[in-house]
Amino acid sequence: MTGNDTIVALSTPPGVGGVALLRISGPQALPAVLSFLSVDLLEPRHSTFARFLYQGELLDEVLAIHYPAPHSYTGEDIVEIACHGSLYIQQTLLQALTAAGLRLAEPGEYTRRAFLNGKLNLSQAEAVADLIDSVTPAQHRLAVSQLRGGYAEKLRDLRQQLLDLTSLLELELDFSQEDVEFADRSQLHLLLSTLQTQLAALLDSFRLGNALKQGVPVAIIGRPNVGKSTLLNALLNDDRAIVSDIPGTTRDTVEGMLTLDGITFRLVDTAGLRETEDAVEQLGIERSRRAYDDALIVLHVEEANVPIDETDLHNPDGKKHLLVINKTDLTNDVPPVDYGVPTVVISALQGTGIEKLKKLLTDAVGVEHTDNGVLLSNARHCEALSKVRQALNNASQGLDSGVPADLVAVDLRDALYHLGTITGEVTSTDILGNIFSRFCVGK
Ligand code: GDP
Repeated sequence: MTGNDTIVALSTPPGVGGVALLRISGPQALPAVLSFLSVDLLEPRHSTFARFLYQGELLDEVLAIHYPAPHSYTGEDIVEIACHGSLYIQQTLLQALTAAGLRLAEPGEYTRRAFLNGKLNLSQAEAVADLIDSVTPAQHRLAVSQLRGGYAEKLRDLRQQLLDLTSLLELELDFSQEDVEFADRSQLHLLLSTLQTQLAALLDSFRLGNALKQGVPVAIIGRPNVGKSTLLNALLNDDRAIVSDIPGTTRDTVEGMLTLDGITFRLVDTAGLRETEDAVEQLGIERSRRAYDDALIVLHVEEANVPIDETDLHNPDGKKHLLVINKTDLTNDVPPVDYGVPTVVISALQGTGIEKLKKLLTDAVGVEHTDNGVLLSNARHCEALSKVRQALNNASQGLDSGVPADLVAVDLRDALYHLGTITGEVTSTDILGNIFSRFCVGK
């Protein structure tokens, strides 16, 4: 399946460094590298010290490791060369090896070969890209789970359940001439509804999974002048938002990123959702609405000495609503009323209560409602799983209305097909091109 040419690329980032790593993969990897080295062989999986000679002169002293096929990242013969990280050495090594007939690798080509050689499935290959891109502990955890952990297991498990279900039904088809209803319909129903429940949980987790990957969106809302900008600054510890006591000064949304306990929050200070004639402010209000719609967590900011506006506080929109009672430095008396949502009293100006608010924010991102902490975070997978769900719904309706087993089987095969696009049992060149173009060269 894979190209039989041999590819080469730097696996370390471009630029000067202490060392640089060149990776060569393909059938010519070993002979091509050996033709430049001062040694005649490389003991498999051992680091060998050698001189790299180019046009009769010493270019560098390097360490070379040979990973014979199929026990390598790509499943092909791989040789890695660690050289000194000078730009000249890196470029000359690449020049020497390409002149010897090797080709420069395309972005993601190593991982693509690993996939084509069955070393990784597609979802795992995507996880490698996420792992390389991960900056926060939460992103790292998600990528690892997709590579080896709970998520990879969950997909395998779903596929197995779906196969069991399909084979149960197809058994019936095999005996259809004899007019026997082989598959126990109640068992089919049970298997199907178990699968539907698991899928629903996984699909529900996408909002959170995606948020953890991109930053959990938090909208700070409240009437003009309650202290939203001041609160954003207090959370971020800088003067990002313009603070003033003229209502409506925050004319647009202002954003800031905050990382707490390894989770990144994307805080958006909204312009306030109040009606206005001012065209500029109107624009800000639209942005605020959008920020509100996108948010996973909403901070309702209120003032301590003003009656609380409970609009939207109990909105059943699936968002986590937190009540922040600000300006407590102006009053001695904050009545201990239970508003039915997590509440914190603060003074954004003086910085009191901010730590407690941060705790409420991290608590609000609880993963307890997910299936053993398994989170869906990849948009492509989410789309495929929605199609799986649709196919299962069709199958379920078919069973209910007593349609022939072979039609129900078509829906189940459809579900298997869409599940297969996630792990790569079913692929197209387009899907592969799309996925691997996200990688950098050398991965
Ligand atoms: P926004 O319109 O909701 O963004 O409100 P701002 O953050 O611009 O604040 C409006 C005014 O309230 C400013 O003069 C702030 O200094 C003041 N303010 C904000 N938070 C507090 C607070 O905790 N205590 C007091 N005393 N004043 C505050």
